[in-house]
Amino acid sequence: MTNVLVTGGAGYIGSHACKALRAAGYTPVTFDNLVTGWEDAVKFGPFEKGDLLDRARIDEVFAKYAPIAVMHFAALSQVGESMQVPGKYWRNNVVGSLNLIEAAVAADCHNFVFSSTCATYGDQDNVVLDENSAQHPINAYGASKRAIEDILRDFEASNGLNHVIFRYFNVAGADPEAEVGEHHQPETHLIPLMLDAIDGKRDALTIFGTDYETPDGTCIRDYVHVCDLVDAHVLGLKWLEKDKGSRVFNLGTGSGFSVREVIDHSRAVTNRAVPFNEGARRPGDCTKLVSGSTRAEQELGWTPTRSTLQTMIADAWKWHQTGHYDK
Ligand code: UDP
Repeated sequence: MTNVLVTGGAGYIGSHACKALRAAGYTPVTFDNLVTGWEDAVKFGPFEKGDLLDRARIDEVFAKYAPIAVMHFAALSQVGESMQVPGKYWRNNVVGSLNLIEAAVAADCHNFVFSSTCATYGDQDNVVLDENSAQHPINAYGASKRAIEDILRDFEASNGLNHVIFRYFNVAGADPEAEVGEHHQPETHLIPLMLDAIDGKRDALTIFGTDYETPDGTCIRDYVHVCDLVDAHVLGLKWLEKDKGSRVFNLGTGSGFSVREVIDHSRAVTNRAVPFNEGARRPGDCTKLVSGSTRAEQELGWTPTRSTLQTMIADAWKWHQTGHYDK
């Protein structure tokens, strides 16, 4: 049995990763404190409830399953909240990750896949963001993820911890079979909020800022389908298993869409009106975050197949309509 420890496996991206790992012949062992995750999303392998701030509990799980690798998704990830309560982000994300990294090394598990973010780059207008771009995060969420990247580099030097860092752009969509999908509480992300507004489950969507220096005044993001994203993780794991050393990869498609463009596509996909109003900027938001790298395609052989806005919104809409979202 080839166990992979998946922290945050009960969350949005982690649960999709568990499905992809299972399909690739691994056994995903979910470690999750269920603060933002859902036990009913753990469908593809064993579940161990635990918190990354509890080192003894992490050690127990390593001893029980002897995983060949860790995929570390567990984190607090709301940009806006991170600006209001930064201590929560530094403690949970950074201290929790440090515990996990030390436990992995102590258990002789030297393959580590880390979920990082393009928020580590910060606002760099008109700069093509590739893996060598400077990292100047403008919010505590991005800063906490950058710090974890630094910790991984130090542990590679000191303990031979091989790692793949994935810097995600905007993850969207859902499992096309709708076994798992996006379910945040509270929800802060654009597409699920918009789908809620479309079918009247929530008030109108508020566009956060219409005075950005972009063609239509709204922020531009690079959206990537969650299934494509987790496929890259399986490829990253195989990379580590081949002892190819540590590497950073952006995961985005290189296409940027504004908030207004996402609204227009949602109208077309769902054939329903999108109620929205225009509001103030949200603190911590960058004007434009679009990947300018094809390293993942070239070096991992990653081929995104579902990352068109049309497919991402259609898959998210299908999941939304299962009603899971309302529980
Ligand atoms: N956004 C918005 N209204 C919302 C939620 C998000 O206008 O209710 C915008 C947000 O300002 C950003 C984009 O949609 O420009 C994507 O935001 P999201 O929270 O989905 O992801 P983030 O870019 O923060 O990771």
